[in-house]
Amino acid sequence: MTNEEALALFERAGALLNGHFRLSSGLHSGQYLEKFRLMQDPRLAEPMCAELARRFSRDNIEVVLGPTTAGIILAYNVARHLGVEARYAEREEGAMTLRRGQTLPAGTRTLVVDDILTTGGAVRECVEVVCGHDAVLAGVGVLGDRSGGAVDFGTHFEAVLTVSIESFPPESCPLCAQGVPLYQPGTKGIIR
Ligand SMILES: [Zn+2]
Repeated sequence: MTNEEALALFERAGALLNGHFRLSSGLHSGQYLEKFRLMQDPRLAEPMCAELARRFSRDNIEVVLGPTTAGIILAYNVARHLGVEARYAEREEGAMTLRRGQTLPAGTRTLVVDDILTTGGAVRECVEVVCGHDAVLAGVGVLGDRSGGAVDFGTHFEAVLTVSIESFPPESCPLCAQGVPLYQPGTKGIIR
C-alpha cells in the first residue's frame, strides 16, 4: 500500500478532513485528523491493519500490544493477521499498565501499535510497559504518522500513512485571509 493509497483510505473514512480548523493548541490548519473515524468502518480499517501486519511479517513478532482505546482494536486485528496474541495497555492511577491479569513473559518479541503518532506519548508509555516486563521491543507500527519524523523509538518503525499537517497562528493564517469558514473540531458547525 502506497502513501497515496493510505491517504485515500483516510479520506474515505472521514479521518482526514480538509477545510479550516481551529486546533486545541489554538493554531489554525487546513487539515484535521479525526482519528476515531478510522476504526468506524472495518472495510477501511481492515486493509490498513493488514498492511501493518505485512510490514512486520519478518520480525518474528510474538505479541502485539496497543493502548486503550483505539489501540485495542488495532492490536487485535494486527495480531490476528500475524497469527499471534494481543495485549492491551490501559491506565491505572495515571500509569499505562497491563491490567486484568494480562501477562507478558520476559523476552517476548513485542510489536507496539497505535492509531496516530503525534508526539509519541502513548506509544512511549507502551514501550515502557514492554521494558518493565523485560520483554523485547521488536517494532513500533502506527496507522498515521504526523510527527514529522520527530520521534525515534530505536526500533523497526512503520507508518501506513505519513502526513504533514501545516498549522498557522490565527494572525498569519492564509485561510483566515481568504475568509474560509472556520470549524472547531468536536463541535457542530461554523464558529466564524
Ligand atoms: Zn485561520
